[in-house]
Amino acid sequence: MTFAPEPAVTGGQETSQTRLLRRGVDLLCRADPELAALLDAEVDHQAATLAMIASASAADPSVLAAGGAALSNVTAEGYPGARYHPGAVHFDAVERLAVERAKEAFGAQYANVQPHSCSSANFSVLSALIPVGGVLLGLDLDAGGHLTHGSPASVTGRHFSAVHYGLDEHGHLDYDSVADLARAHCPAVIVAGASAYPRVIDFARFRAIADSVGAYLLADISHIAGLVVTGEHPSPIDHAHITTTSTYKQLGGPRGGLILSGREHRAAGPDGHTPLARLMQQAVFPRSQGTPSPAAIAAKARALDLVTTPEFKDTARRIVENAAALAAAFTASGHHVLTGGTDNHMVLLGVLHRGLTGVVAERALEECGILANRNRIPGDTKPPLVAGGLRLGTNLLAQRGMGPAEMAACARLVDTVLDATRPDGDTAYHLDPRVRDGVRGEVAELCARFPLPFAHDEPAGAFAGHPPHETGARL
Ligand SMILES: *Cc1c(COP(=O)(O)O)cnc(C)c1O
Repeated sequence: MTFAPEPAVTGGQETSQTRLLRRGVDLLCRADPELAALLDAEVDHQAATLAMIASASAADPSVLAAGGAALSNVTAEGYPGARYHPGAVHFDAVERLAVERAKEAFGAQYANVQPHSCSSANFSVLSALIPVGGVLLGLDLDAGGHLTHGSPASVTGRHFSAVHYGLDEHGHLDYDSVADLARAHCPAVIVAGASAYPRVIDFARFRAIADSVGAYLLADISHIAGLVVTGEHPSPIDHAHITTTSTYKQLGGPRGGLILSGREHRAAGPDGHTPLARLMQQAVFPRSQGTPSPAAIAAKARALDLVTTPEFKDTARRIVENAAALAAAFTASGHHVLTGGTDNHMVLLGVLHRGLTGVVAERALEECGILANRNRIPGDTKPPLVAGGLRLGTNLLAQRGMGPAEMAACARLVDTVLDATRPDGDTAYHLDPRVRDGVRGEVAELCARFPLPFAHDEPAGAFAGHPPHETGARL
């Protein structure tokens, strides 16, 4: 398989872990060719697809290898030095390393690396800070919020009494309405963060509002964590009481979540005395999770090392530059760019005025090898599975080494497809096959010219002798 690890670079000797992974890959191919072929096809698919999924990035092969470690066999509830099972000596060291690296990367004083996802991290935090039936104030789903910010479709909207803020007429966060709603409803927690919002979030302003009503501030930076680590977006760590993030979106890590805290980590919880850091430890285990996932934590440790490299900083800068260039190119070709542009990695398009729906645009693009997902937009008249918008992101384009010059080409390809798509109702459409084939060809050419960092067919051992950071280039 393409992901077969290269031999260990230390003195040409394979390590135990490398031997095990190599044997696993061999066994998988021989004993389960059906599954192996599917996994192999996915590698090729990623290499040949122009993915502009705002919530995705490519994990470095070393992150994937750490996630497949035999460490996964360790069962150990609890935290380093305080496990409920024996045999966690190496896992303890790995988890401590991941915690230290998370603190270092984000400039935090507290980190919990055990959440299996950001959804479970959010649920852990909210259930520790809000009594059942208590009030939560978060961004409305249709305005770009996340399900776990109190949507009725999520348990966070059922256990808590959720109130939602929205956007102003320009599509920017309406801070005055956040303040008004906070005064009117006295929430226990205000959530600042979004899944579909292309502008800077003013965490200091959110904190001032939270303080005015005695609420805790939870910053959820799932989408922008890579920009926060590299200073491309202001950090919430010392403004919010608690910060959560996914590890697989912009951090290039494994599936999973983190809970972080900065200068407020010793602030008192709702009982008036338990420090937030201690409360968060309990909130994850035993309150909402059982055993942690040791190999996922190893993969988080690896990714959290890579995000502090100069290469990652370069990629983050290019992510932001590319998104601005992409938004400008869409505006120039007459598309409806929400908020008129972007400050982060994300470009939101409204497609209804072109007679399209989000799902039609998504499917037509996918036929041509371009991935961007449908997205509900403010004032959307279509149901969630149809939606009136499209969300694009530049994480993977930047990881491929593309710059602003290539964004014009990417925008032109998207524009060409959308222009040639004739909708037939909300979900069906006809796409001119000649346009489709032409775009597919250009996508293939672009992907070959700008390969994903993992897609190089390096001869075995090609990384030997490189300084460690170079093997993680362009994450
Ligand atoms: C994606 C996302 C989540 C959920 O993350 P998972 O790790 O997929 O559960 C939470 N909050 C925001 C803002 C997100 O964008």
